[in-house]
Amino acid sequence: MLSCGLRQLGHEVVIISRPRQFDTIEGLSERAYNGLKFAKCESALATVGREVRRIANWNGERFEGNRERIVYRNRFDRGLLIDARNAGVDILSGQVLRISNTAECHEIRWRNDRGDICHTRADIVIDARGRATGRRGQWRIGPRSISIGQYWMLGRKQLPSTSIATFEDGWAWFASCENSRVLIQLFLSLERDRLPPRRELSNMCNRIIHSLSEYHDQLRDAHPIGETTARDASTALCENTFTTGWYCVGDAAMSIDPLAGHGLYESVSGALALVPVINTIVRRPGDGDVARRFYKEKLETDFWRMARVGRDFYRQETRWPSSAFWIERQQWPDERPAHSSPTDHAPKVADRPVSENGFICERKVIVTSDHPRGVWQVAGAPLVDLMEFIHDVGVSDECIQKAVGKFSVSENSIQTALSWLRARGLQ
Ligand SMILES: Cc1cc2nc3c(=O)[nH]c(=O)nc-3n(C[C@H](O)[C@H](O)[C@H](O)COP(=O)(O)OP(=O)(O)OC[C@H]3O[C@@H](n4cnc5c(N)ncnc54)[C@H](O)[C@@H]3O)c2cc1C
Repeated sequence: MLSCGLRQLGHEVVIISRPRQFDTIEGLSERAYNGLKFAKCESALATVGREVRRIANWNGERFEGNRERIVYRNRFDRGLLIDARNAGVDILSGQVLRISNTAECHEIRWRNDRGDICHTRADIVIDARGRATGRRGQWRIGPRSISIGQYWMLGRKQLPSTSIATFEDGWAWFASCENSRVLIQLFLSLERDRLPPRRELSNMCNRIIHSLSEYHDQLRDAHPIGETTARDASTALCENTFTTGWYCVGDAAMSIDPLAGHGLYESVSGALALVPVINTIVRRPGDGDVARRFYKEKLETDFWRMARVGRDFYRQETRWPSSAFWIERQQWPDERPAHSSPTDHAPKVADRPVSENGFICERKVIVTSDHPRGVWQVAGAPLVDLMEFIHDVGVSDECIQKAVGKFSVSENSIQTALSWLRARGLQ
């Protein structure tokens, strides 16, 4: 998605990629789906199924309100590469082994599918290797978790759906999918003393799965198929300043707790944000620091918000007050609220980096406690300019019409922006 965006702005892009080493399924949220639509990732979208129910069994209660789409990651990843190729990206198939900086550029050492060692040079490197990234530089790591996945063959056909359920040492994600199969992933603490040796993992997982009363009915006559897979599922944030022409995106930049079901959305939104950042660094190097700041602040704000939302959700499961798994996640990262109220602090006007027409530049924005990075526009109307305009001429039908002309937006947009200002006591 990032490479498609950069191609649209006329940059030369090469992807070096190897296929995922395991076959897995994930749930795609509506926001992530809309992000892919916005980026016109047609081939990837064509692999995504219809919405299914997402059931949450949490703290002994059952919630059914949510929905998500099941994504078969190998097909989806192939779709993304087709979209990139169609956008004119050069795709090299192989495994990246090392990325090193020289005075002029970056050198990527990689092994192609025939086993040959190759070297590719680039002015800018974007690490999108997900959780397999080398984690260069500064990282903030949250609770260390592992996911153990196992496919099961069901005794009878079931409608596709996903659900989560909890147990003393973690939680489970259950996705019933095609061909009467289900994928069950258990999320456990990665602390070594809490996990059995690898050869006993599968037995331990089967014991846990059979203990989950929520799935007794569905798993009657079911049996495990294939090998168990283990994936790192820890939370981590890259805290580098990106000053060396080396950037990271997606899980290679910030990995959130899979409990959120939002990792794909965060990766989509990070990729869309990085397009104007790279464009600015290449074409307006004088604004490079502003662009890097924009990206870093976005990652940090999103990461800590998601971490605190996750903490609050873990706190709603109260049945295992002495379990190390639950205690650790109910306490991390801190006690700060996940969402600030818009009126916690008085709003202020400040210069902050914003994205405008494919570039990052500084604009006057309104900073509020619920929008610490500031809000520049609402419905396309620039808030600070609008606020100054109505300060001078007042709010009347005539002035709204003048604002429509002045800011080249619809009357609806002006009304929406005015309501936003009014709600914060700024009109
Ligand atoms: C167990 C688990 C379950 C999850 N479930 C969900 C979910 O239900 N919904 C959701 O929204 N999110 C979920 N997530 C999060 C989601 O998987 C990630 O946020 C998302 O895949 C990140 O995308 P990415 O492109 O950054 O990384 P990835 O999707 O991991 O892609 C990285 C790519 O880089 C390739 N690669 C890796 N190393 C190399 C190398 N050395 N050389 C070349 N290529 C390489 C890989 O093969 C892969 O194709 C889950 C995460 C985990 C760990």
